[in-house]
Amino acid sequence: MGSKKHSLSGSLHPKWKGGLYELICQECGKPFQVYYGRKETAKFCSRSCVQKKLSRDALIAVTVFGIKRCPNCGEIKYVGSFYKHKGTSDGYSAYCKECEKLRRKDYYDKNKDEYLSRQKLWRSEHKERLRKQRRSQYLRNRDRVRDIRKRQQAKYRLENRARIRAQEAISRKVNREKIRSRAKIRAKQDIANLKPYYLKQLLRRRELAATPKIIAFKKEQIMLFRELKTLRRRLDHGLN
Ligand SMILES: [Zn+2]
Ligand SMILES: [Zn+2]
Repeated sequence: MGSKKHSLSGSLHPKWKGGLYELICQECGKPFQVYYGRKETAKFCSRSCVQKKLSRDALIAVTVFGIKRCPNCGEIKYVGSFYKHKGTSDGYSAYCKECEKLRRKDYYDKNKDEYLSRQKLWRSEHKERLRKQRRSQYLRNRDRVRDIRKRQQAKYRLENRARIRAQEAISRKVNREKIRSRAKIRAKQDIANLKPYYLKQLLRRRELAATPKIIAFKKEQIMLFRELKTLRRRLDHGLN
């Protein structure tokens, strides 16, 4: 069955239409030769010239039209469907995101054991670095959460100012004693710790300027007095 094959080729073939035809390569401009059958269709001298033309067209497609063909799934997609990739001629990775994900997963599955053991090794070699990284990540996240919360609270307070004020007034009334005793305790602690505002109060009472130097001096003085007092008391009790 089928057509009988001619054993005659080239100029002996019954359909022979002449010898080689010379054409000019549309990419490199050099002459090249083809047989009759490809006389109308051939445009390039070599595969590398076809490749060059294709990549140039692809680059135009990306830069001018914002589209790109994925060689894996064969689909033409907008460049947004491709990961950005520095170092490639068009700035995008060759395969579309979906294919890239599949390929990565595939690669990961195939090399899972090796990958995991390498990761383990790397982790054990970079413990300190990882610790710092985790720490800074935690701090950054904490600050961010705090900022967000602060802003939310400020907004809430602004929007519900009247209601919050009323609530606060009520709770002040209800907790008056608690608030008072807490304030007393805090004031005592502040005096014990010689907080700057307390020292300033003292100086102001004596009509002295509360410069940092004078504040520091006052603090030192009070501490010495206190020390003296303690020593005296211990002496009175027969201790030393
Ligand atoms: Zn060429
Ligand atoms: Zn694809």
